[in-house]
Amino acid sequence: MFIRSSCIGLFLLTWGAAAAPVPALIIDGQNNHNWQETTPVLKKLLEETGLFQVDVVTSPPQGGDMSGFTPEFSNYKVVISNYNGDPWSPEVKAAFETYMRAGGGFVSYHAADNAFPEWSEYNRMIGIGGWGDPDLNAGPFWFYKDGGLVFDDYSPGKAGNHGARKPFQVTDRRMHPITKGLPEVWMHEADELYSKLRGPGKNITLLATAYSDPGNSGSGHHEPMLMAIGYSKGRVFHTTMGHDVPAMKCVGFIATLQRGTEWAATGQVTQKVPADFPTADKVSIRPLQ
Ligand code: ZN
Repeated sequence: MFIRSSCIGLFLLTWGAAAAPVPALIIDGQNNHNWQETTPVLKKLLEETGLFQVDVVTSPPQGGDMSGFTPEFSNYKVVISNYNGDPWSPEVKAAFETYMRAGGGFVSYHAADNAFPEWSEYNRMIGIGGWGDPDLNAGPFWFYKDGGLVFDDYSPGKAGNHGARKPFQVTDRRMHPITKGLPEVWMHEADELYSKLRGPGKNITLLATAYSDPGNSGSGHHEPMLMAIGYSKGRVFHTTMGHDVPAMKCVGFIATLQRGTEWAATGQVTQKVPADFPTADKVSIRPLQ
């Protein structure tokens, strides 16, 4: 009897998930990157899982009147930021903080971690970021060393750096639903390898790193690439990767974006690792048309 009722429960759970994709919201409209090209790719990659129904809200252009930009965060289980631009209004910031404290999901994608150096709660959500503000109050530089995320001694200097776009190896650092079943080391398609990220660095589970080569303007540290961050009851997935569409064709980027967004939305990952996932020495890309 117990087994039978469990099976019915499992069936209903599965049926329910399949019948009702998770509502997700991508925010764009201002970015020092080509958001007009990357947002449709983000939307396609999320919707092809069958798990998400994705809306997009586009802000006014830089310097425009932001007073009418009022996303309804509470209508969504996860918000994905492809935004790096003018500050949101105090009301929108407060609404987003309320949404996250209540258990919302958030995905910080690439240059979204360059946004809002003045917004301390946002920086707690993303953990660390690459804005150029040299103010040490933003927090120290963080990187991976001796099995964990560490910070240097609050040395001064600009945050955020990367070298020329080249393929690089990503190393998984922690068992987590997002990275479970992935190869320990995998080769990412040519992309910007972010380094010198600065911030409060609280409640971060560091999922994956990449070595920032001093021969390519790098820091000489193993830098955070993928992070899971707790913010009150909310969950944040932070990927520093995906500068442009060619980098987004990497199956490693695709699978971690899809898995990380599911985790941010629901706290679980139900997706299988794709068979064409990259290996330690070979990139794997997919056409995105
Ligand atoms: Zn970039």
